[in-house]
Amino acid sequence: MSQNPPDLRPDLANAQVPELRSNQPKIGMVSLGCPKALVDSERILTRLRAEGYAISPDYAGAEAVIVNTCGFLDSAKAESLDAIGEALTENGRVIVTGCLGAEEDYIRGTHPSVLAVTGPHQYEQVLDAVHTAVPPAPDPFIDLLPAAGVKLTPRHYSYLKISEGCNHKCKFCIIPDMRGRLTSRPQKAVMREAEKLVEAGVKELLVISQDTSAYGTDWKDRETKAPITALARDLGGLGAWVRLHYVYPYPHVREMIPLMADPSNGILPYLDIPFQHAHPDTLRRMARPAAASRTLDEIAAWRSDCPDITLRSTFIVGYPGETDAEFQHLLDWMDEAQLDRVGCFQYENVDGARSNSLPDHVPAEIKQDRWERFMEKAQAISEAKLAAKVGQRMSVLVDELDAEAATCRTMADAPEIDGNLFIDEGFEQLSVGDLVEVVVDEAGEYDLWGHLAN
Ligand code: SF4
Repeated sequence: MSQNPPDLRPDLANAQVPELRSNQPKIGMVSLGCPKALVDSERILTRLRAEGYAISPDYAGAEAVIVNTCGFLDSAKAESLDAIGEALTENGRVIVTGCLGAEEDYIRGTHPSVLAVTGPHQYEQVLDAVHTAVPPAPDPFIDLLPAAGVKLTPRHYSYLKISEGCNHKCKFCIIPDMRGRLTSRPQKAVMREAEKLVEAGVKELLVISQDTSAYGTDWKDRETKAPITALARDLGGLGAWVRLHYVYPYPHVREMIPLMADPSNGILPYLDIPFQHAHPDTLRRMARPAAASRTLDEIAAWRSDCPDITLRSTFIVGYPGETDAEFQHLLDWMDEAQLDRVGCFQYENVDGARSNSLPDHVPAEIKQDRWERFMEKAQAISEAKLAAKVGQRMSVLVDELDAEAATCRTMADAPEIDGNLFIDEGFEQLSVGDLVEVVVDEAGEYDLWGHLAN
């Protein structure tokens, strides 16, 4: 094993699990991909920790390294292969899991010496592979699992995965092939996990899945049409902020909006809804759920029930067959929709996706041009929306502290993807995880600056 420079993975030092005894077997974890993959990594580490393994903060100290891969886009696959290569060079004993693990031949074609390859959510197989590579040495007297499991995210916020898989068949997406059909976790199990997290000091729960609004619709004996509403209500009662990601604009989403309008319910007035496009023909070619729904009407209804709601979304430009007129329709739609937070990707072929074989792929320079025009518009909307917040008083959660400022988030900002509110004076008494009141002094394109309210 080589000497490990301090910036090399596995560097998920937020796990911060102390080594408890000298003979404890040690595993390293490299976690790539989306927040959902991060939750998987946390679960694997939680189990290993429960079995008496220590989590190594570097390659050199690990007896084997798990690489949790992402296989969504070709660029993510390349990144995963690079990460596996790095782990092999730096450590030599590598177990691969996660989305790209579904393609064992592809991985072994480049890296034949990996110890094992397991697919997404194959927790038992990952653990088996770890047991084979590095036998456990349990000690029931000291191997106590931390109450909230092992967390890779900072202690004051946590992702909460409520289901796996997806029943849709969007043409650009291979997640249903990799992750299977929708399987919702029982509400009691989700609540137990959420309660433990809140007891352990988590101030914000980020609810994730492939399709959050479909939660529970796979249960044959469900009592209501939309079990997500009941789950959101119960989570909101725990006293932490509850933020909903990956919600689709199904009609039953309207039921949740009045809950968001009343702060005492604990559900943040925030919806992360991946619209992907606005033109009905493009959406149909994408085979998007709710392709035909009148989303502007839905948005207007949500805003009427909850005027402070923050809407975040992601879009794809340059989808095969996207005409100038369809793209212009998207820009006009943005003018009307006035979304608060927006991400945008240029369409990219993904191995195995059905969209690859669609006619009329858009040339790279047109995709780039559309992306720039889209982002210019999104940025102007964001800037105007943030400028309107100057002078307002609001609650923020403190994420980070350094000598210069406290980096915080408002209810309108999800960690890692949205903006921040910075306090650069009088913040010395604050601690990470504090919930404080501020007044907004200044606004930029994506961030705010403010001072502590009296
Ligand atoms: S809804 Fe569509 S994009 Fe989202 S996971 Fe399912 S198939 Fe993929």
